Amino acid sequence: MDIQEWEQRHTDAFYNVKKSLPYLEGMFVAYNSNIDAIKHLTDEDLCRLMELFDEVDIQKRVETYPREINEPLDFMARLLISMREGKAAEIPTHTSDIHEWLKAHLGFDYARMGGQAGIISNLLARLELKKVVAYIPWLSEEQADYFAASDNLLHPKLEDGKVVLKPPKEAFKPGIESKVNWIFEYSRGLEVTCNGNNFTVPRDNRLIISSRPKWIRLDMDREIYEQLESLYPIDGAMLSGYQMIKEEYEDGSTYKDYVSHSVKVIEKLKALNPELRIHVELTSIQNRVIRKAILTEIVARHVHSLGLDTVEVANALNVLGHEELSYSVIRKEENGITSLYHGAVQLLKDLSLERVHVHSLGFYICILAKGHPLTLKEHRDALLFSSTLAGAKALTGDIENLDEAAAGLEVPVSGKGIEDLENFKLYCVGKRLCTPEEFEFGYLYGADHNAVIIPSKVVEKPKSTVGIGDTISAGAFAAMLATMKQK
Ligand code: ADP
Repeated sequence: MDIQEWEQRHTDAFYNVKKSLPYLEGMFVAYNSNIDAIKHLTDEDLCRLMELFDEVDIQKRVETYPREINEPLDFMARLLISMREGKAAEIPTHTSDIHEWLKAHLGFDYARMGGQAGIISNLLARLELKKVVAYIPWLSEEQADYFAASDNLLHPKLEDGKVVLKPPKEAFKPGIESKVNWIFEYSRGLEVTCNGNNFTVPRDNRLIISSRPKWIRLDMDREIYEQLESLYPIDGAMLSGYQMIKEEYEDGSTYKDYVSHSVKVIEKLKALNPELRIHVELTSIQNRVIRKAILTEIVARHVHSLGLDTVEVANALNVLGHEELSYSVIRKEENGITSLYHGAVQLLKDLSLERVHVHSLGFYICILAKGHPLTLKEHRDALLFSSTLAGAKALTGDIENLDEAAAGLEVPVSGKGIEDLENFKLYCVGKRLCTPEEFEFGYLYGADHNAVIIPSKVVEKPKSTVGIGDTISAGAFAAMLATMKQK
């Protein structure tokens, strides 16, 4: 593969897509957002924290190994455990008490938008789409501050029984708590003394306190569901956050209730605009019952497009009964990319999708059902556009507008990505999925599907990697829809 050629294709695709984006009327984005509060712990912070407790109490709590954070002492104990081992950990908390306590006693260095729907809404608004309708069932006043303050980003609000669209800052639900995840970063070499025990932090790592308030439900307010047409015109929906569904709730409801509500929303979105396309962005889902329900009951037959990374491809295959394929995707051996390709094709078939977009470090694969209205070149442009966005995001940490996104064009296409694809080429040509010339274009032709494969831009020393996967999926999906509208 000629790297220079792929650089040029990235540039051409960026400007092609930029011209198409104004054809989109609107995008609906739901359901999950939260605030990420980031604190890098210094020596002084640690001393200040330790002084708030009796060291004997901390020691005793360390020994009980708390699995959730119910009070500040649990946090202190898990922080020391994480630091002692230099091991990342994520521990849930079910109230916002610890958030208030941390704000009062420690504070954070900076905070940013977290959660797939929050990240995607802000990105699409900054790509200057005409209208982005975000919907977060638990939009609090504090959370609303993290949405891009631009006229094209709106959120439904109930006013005198009528659903209207307002900027998030005017659409929050008064009095509800915020979902704040705290991320504590610490560095190697920090000296810690507690109750006469000393240790030195062995490596840089982080502890995350993830907020899981018990009252949170992945659901749509009834009034908004009933007046869903007030969100239109929209051409597409990007849905995520289903991983927050729990098997059982204290009020006796179960995941089945929320799965069926979710499907009803999807059905209504499509009924109001039969041309509308729906994309689901997957993330890791620990609970296998929930993972399977999301895939087989929400995604299968109801949505058009799925976005995910390689680990999620393996996890999805695993609950769908393709264990062997799943293991060979995860093992990432020499033929890892071949397995990944087969895995993505399997997902397209099992879930009756129109499109499966897999992103990996250095290349993306998009499997397409036959008969899709766009050409493979147009699909390729959508992927290349998203690769430029990923480059811009890794480079700058955030994309403020379309002009800034063009900074991603300066990021080089990954040499490792090209190399991985070269290896895959032998397989594809051998299996007659394409000729060597077709492979150079990134086009594959299967018996019951087509595929596009591109090497992607990778920033060697990224400023941040949070939310790049969401950025890739959202950028490519919006680009694809815009091109469909333009045609
Ligand atoms: P997240 O959920 O944080 O977005 P994912 O695993 O879903 O994480 O996505 C990460 C994706 O971001 C990778 O698949 C890769 O394509 C892209 N990526 C990661 N690091 C970089 C980088 N330094 N430069 C460009 N793209 C990157």
